[in-house]
Amino acid sequence: MNFRVAVIGAGPSGLYAAAALLSSGEPVSVEVLDRLPAPYGLVRYGVAPDHVKMKSVIRVLQKPFDPADVEFLGGVRIGDGGIPLDELRTHVHAVVHATGSSVDRDLGVPGEDLAGSYGSGEFVSWYCGHPDFTGLDPALDHPGVAVVGAGNVALDVARVLAKAPDEMAATDVPGPVLDALRGSAVRDVHVLVRRGPQHVRFTPAELRQIGDLADAQVVVHDDGLLAAGVEEPDDRRQKQNLAMLTDWAARPLGGARRRIHLRFLRSPVRLLGADGRVSGIVVERTALDASGRVVGTGEEQTLDVGLVVRAIGYAGEPIPGLPFDEATGTVPNEGGRVVRDGVPVPGAYVTGWIKRGPTGVIGTNKGDAQETVAALLADLPTLPAPAHPEPEALRDALAAHGIRPVDWTSWLRLDAEEVRRGGLRGAERVKVAELAEMLDAAHGATTTP
Ligand SMILES: Cc1cc2nc3c(=O)[nH]c(=O)nc-3n(C[C@H](O)[C@H](O)[C@H](O)COP(=O)(O)OP(=O)(O)OC[C@H]3O[C@@H](n4cnc5c(N)ncnc54)[C@H](O)[C@@H]3O)c2cc1C
Repeated sequence: MNFRVAVIGAGPSGLYAAAALLSSGEPVSVEVLDRLPAPYGLVRYGVAPDHVKMKSVIRVLQKPFDPADVEFLGGVRIGDGGIPLDELRTHVHAVVHATGSSVDRDLGVPGEDLAGSYGSGEFVSWYCGHPDFTGLDPALDHPGVAVVGAGNVALDVARVLAKAPDEMAATDVPGPVLDALRGSAVRDVHVLVRRGPQHVRFTPAELRQIGDLADAQVVVHDDGLLAAGVEEPDDRRQKQNLAMLTDWAARPLGGARRRIHLRFLRSPVRLLGADGRVSGIVVERTALDASGRVVGTGEEQTLDVGLVVRAIGYAGEPIPGLPFDEATGTVPNEGGRVVRDGVPVPGAYVTGWIKRGPTGVIGTNKGDAQETVAALLADLPTLPAPAHPEPEALRDALAAHGIRPVDWTSWLRLDAEEVRRGGLRGAERVKVAELAEMLDAAHGATTTP
């Protein structure tokens, strides 16, 4: 009998794990389950729509499904509202949890619950066409927006908001998102960075992109630091960033339609509201103390904004039945083996962001998944056989829960529909975002143009 392994999550880490299981040569059959009808996790719902080249990693990630060696069961949530983990466990020898980190971290400042204040997770999900966020409908009716954070996600959000709509039309953003961007009144995007220009760790290629926009200019606000001269950082990336920022800081203000203001040494203090909605953000000038820690100076300034996006990181969600470390937002593990109080939980493994936290690039998940799979393969002969190992038993169990999974052939139908819609707009694809429409397209029901 084959060993049976369920991978929960069809993002990069889950799919790299499936590929590693397949290529192991061991007699393992693999099912990949995802709560969404579409695979690829954050490659589809996080990587910015205009990062088309980055999304080509999909060609690698889909390989296990090509010769139908691995089964895809999309639209199947494990846990609340889906199939309980305990029940899934009765069908497989082992489970690899690859559910990522989807919860936005809070700033912890007053006013962040106002309408118009979003975590980058929800805001990015909206413009990427995630079915849970089609109703977000952020109001882009005010000229000012603040983006809090000093990472690549902050740059993604700023770029998407500043980009000319015709540039966005060539991407896969759903129709309603493109309409919102076309009607956007946004003119000034303020990126708030707590540290100085010599400290930022943006990927230089990402930073360069905001300087290359068709109708937007970068304005560097550094309190004159760059002109006065700052110490050259040792880090290669920081050095490249500093060179770019120094160049931009010296440029005169042009007539571009939009501006991305990089505001260094600024930290949000509170969000202001009018009629329950964000109407401004108070920021404090910061400084670095002798030990390099960021401290407030007490000097405040108010920026006129109608929208705030917090891009300050993510945390995982606890998985019912597994231990969870609230501080890191991850599942405690040793090399991918889930551990409770230092003791391995039989048959439970983790990989990707839920294992190590929200760090690294897509490729980082490959080695991470291989480590987890090596641990799993070493344990397999010792794991008890499941009560219901027959492949059809899992399908029957899903049917009993009223779940009709989206298999690989059905996903390819949805994929083809998106490519068809893309053709109508001159894009490679246009995403179908509404869940009902996704399921209709996947299951072959009639679709609208
Ligand atoms: C906004 C953003 C932009 C990024 N841009 C880049 C980039 O340009 N380049 C780059 O290299 N990296 C980028 N990354 C990082 C990259 O996306 C991650 O490294 C990678 O996606 C993490 O993979 P993962 O499989 O752990 O999680 P995810 O990609 O989040 O996949 C998790 C999967 O689990 C599923 N799932 C969750 N809960 C359940 C459940 N209960 N039942 C069933 N399924 C479930 C989800 O639907 C999802 O498909 C970006 C990240 C973000 C957030």
